[in-house]
Amino acid sequence: MRYSLMFTLLLAATFSLQAQEKSTPKTFQVYKSDTEWKKQLSGMQYYVLRRGGTEYAFTSELLDEKRKGTYVCAACENPVFRSEYKYDSKSGWPSFDRPIEGSLVYDIDYEIGYERTEEKCGKCGSHLGHVFDDGPSATTGKRHCINGVALKFVADE
Ligand code: FE
Repeated sequence: MRYSLMFTLLLAATFSLQAQEKSTPKTFQVYKSDTEWKKQLSGMQYYVLRRGGTEYAFTSELLDEKRKGTYVCAACENPVFRSEYKYDSKSGWPSFDRPIEGSLVYDIDYEIGYERTEEKCGKCGSHLGHVFDDGPSATTGKRHCINGVALKFVADE
């Protein structure tokens, strides 16, 4: 009995360590000071990417983007989503059923009173959006709900 409790605790500790490793690293490959980000980004980009803000629904020009191509982080150009993963979630924000593998890091935020999984660029740490479990059941079931202003679209050649 005591042995199995110890084992359970050990297992829990191992899992929480793994969970920590997957969340936001302390340092990112791309690091810029706040002053540098302000100079590089528009006011709205800075508010969303660097301050974790959210753009108004139905305002992104990327909502209607249907060409084949790659969506990159607007701050550091890290490729984060592909056009093949994009779908119309009717939420008013560009939505994808999966990211490009390994391109994002995750954090838990409680900003609006309940737990949400925040998505950040894995290369520069900028805020992109959140992921929810109400995505298309035919594929991943995930809805990556992303601020259009945090992305740049690069069409395939
Ligand atoms: Fe980035």
